[in-house]
Amino acid sequence: MAYGEAILDRLISLEGTNFEVRDVKVTTELIELQIEHKEVAEYICPRCDARHNACYSRDWIKIWDIQWGSRRCLWRVRRAKILCHCGLNPAVERMDFRLKHHRLTQRFVDHIEQILCSKMFTVADVSRLFYLDYGIVYKIDHDVLLRLWQDVKLPQPINISVDEKSFKKSRQYVTIVTDLDRKLVIWVSSGNSKESLDQFFEILGPEKCSKLKTVSKDMHAPYIASCNQYVPHAMEVADPFHVVQRLNQVMDECRLNLSIGSALRTGKRKIILNLQWLLRRKNEHLGRARLGIDNWRV
Ligand SMILES: [Zn+2]
Repeated sequence: MAYGEAILDRLISLEGTNFEVRDVKVTTELIELQIEHKEVAEYICPRCDARHNACYSRDWIKIWDIQWGSRRCLWRVRRAKILCHCGLNPAVERMDFRLKHHRLTQRFVDHIEQILCSKMFTVADVSRLFYLDYGIVYKIDHDVLLRLWQDVKLPQPINISVDEKSFKKSRQYVTIVTDLDRKLVIWVSSGNSKESLDQFFEILGPEKCSKLKTVSKDMHAPYIASCNQYVPHAMEVADPFHVVQRLNQVMDECRLNLSIGSALRTGKRKIILNLQWLLRRKNEHLGRARLGIDNWRV
């Protein structure tokens, strides 16, 4: 092996693997590395880590690596498939430098993760920057967030708010728990059922649940049932939005009963029908509705 190729192996972190650089092509936009097995190679089974001296077949794959300056870097890797005693079908040999589900090197993915975690670039920015498919970068971002989430410990909340949020044109819901003291969303689970909120209380644990003082929530029955089960001691505060919403509904029902179902003459019924604007509009915006009431004599 040439000395230059040995340096290349070290540069692209191939040292210590079964692979080495055999050829390099450089164009104005692309650096292409041809990577093959070493003279005396061992093929490692991905399922049981057994080492084999012979392979079943070989083929070429393309893997994208970190850009070198303004040039993209493409690896053309000759991979092997092996027949191992642990399975009936041939398996692709273990390649630690390659990401399992995408044609990207592991170090390229590490680099993308660092950029995403810097919070200076969006997923769309990164996909444009590295000429990658949006879905691939989105998946990498999702995996990072999932990994970081494993290490996150829920803080001790004292006053929380529980609400549901719809998405996909109100066909699906998520349950959102907010720490009111820190003004932070601390939990999101799919669905708006009792189980959705139960998950939060179960992860929080009985000790932290016992320290909860206030739960602000809408009047959604499954949430009430969950709170009654896990935090019966906490004071329930109804969400002002939903209280006003229910009051408006009751007012509307009364107004419709008075106007449509009453024996009053048509003009008066129409005025009662329009009474809603007296409550819903600001005083300076009332206009004709207020005039109608002023002139009305029962
Ligand atoms: Zn095996």
